[in-house]
Amino acid sequence: MQLIYEGKAKRLWETDDDSTLRMEFKNDATAFNGEKKASFENKGRLNNAISTLIYEYLEKVGVPTHFVRQIDETNVEVKRVRILMVEVIVRNVSAGSFCKRTGMKEGVAFSLPIVEYSYKSDALGDPLINDDYIREMGLASVEDMAFVRESALKVNGILSGFFSEAGLKLVDFKLEFGRLVSDPAQIVLADEISPDGCRLWDLKTGEKMDKDRFRRDLGNVMEAYEEVLARLKARLDA
Ligand code: UDP
Repeated sequence: MQLIYEGKAKRLWETDDDSTLRMEFKNDATAFNGEKKASFENKGRLNNAISTLIYEYLEKVGVPTHFVRQIDETNVEVKRVRILMVEVIVRNVSAGSFCKRTGMKEGVAFSLPIVEYSYKSDALGDPLINDDYIREMGLASVEDMAFVRESALKVNGILSGFFSEAGLKLVDFKLEFGRLVSDPAQIVLADEISPDGCRLWDLKTGEKMDKDRFRRDLGNVMEAYEEVLARLKARLDA
């Protein structure tokens, strides 16, 4: 089958069905806009397992997504979408680029979640943009962005509760949305949801259980991902 896209951590392949694609999770990891690179044995399998578990949960509670089914350890089938060129970041606690931009210390809980957007452009380093930029750049309509913001906050509420019941704090995370190729009026949640794109801290100890272990050379990166998966599974089995 034809490879149609290769990104930093995933490949997209055609399938027999025009309306779906196969999304393959790679073992590669990158950070700082691709400047730092590594490969971790089992990363593809772990991210696929975690993302599949989360997508199945979101579908079950009524969130429309691109997810169709898990194919095997490192592959899922997803509906074909045109990805909106906007990354949606939701923050519950100060961390990462929020702290860099504001000077606020890490770990301050916000009174309400912060939703922010960046323009999906590796060449420009995913710059921060706002609703007015998105409208004038023609990336999405005002109505679409109202839907995207509402959906992102809804997903944040659902996932914050889900992770909390697994002993994890959802500090911040990145979402992507796409328009179904089969029905472009419909915008659905797309891309993976894994510790690569979420900050997850142990609720009791505050220990980082996500890609910051790689970004900051904290060690035991895959052990942390393995622990996230085990806790989410235990939460589902409870
Ligand atoms: N994030 C992501 N992809 C990106 C940028 C951010 O998945 O291109 C995630 C990141 O893992 C974190 C959240 O979005 O959970 C907020 O990231 P932040 O803006 O703080 O940027 P970073 O510290 O990763 O540079």
